[in-house]
Amino acid sequence: MPKRVQKRVDNPAADGEVVCVSEAFVKREKQKARLLRKTPWWKAKCSIGTCYYCNSSIHPSELTMDHIIPVSRGGMSVKSNIAAACKGCNDRKKHTLPFMWAEYMESIRIKDEGG
Ligand SMILES: [Zn+2]
Repeated sequence: MPKRVQKRVDNPAADGEVVCVSEAFVKREKQKARLLRKTPWWKAKCSIGTCYYCNSSIHPSELTMDHIIPVSRGGMSVKSNIAAACKGCNDRKKHTLPFMWAEYMESIRIKDEGG
């Protein structure tokens, strides 16, 4: 019988915190994010044209709103938790576990220093 290899993730919030967020919380914070997108604050953030994570120059229209601490992990839609990210980083972050994302951040920082 073939051995089933299954990756088990007991706690996706690998930095130790177990976050339980309700559906209502997610809905509310996403709504708040939508409103923030219309503010001059967000427009100014985008007009800088730099991805918060990889520091690449990105056309303002290509920047996406990203929650530094994802809403699903209890992050709120407040200015201090919102960054302008390129699609690549936003996508990558969405599909990466927090600790893997931290490793990725480390790796691009090291590259920057060596550059
Ligand atoms: Zn980026």
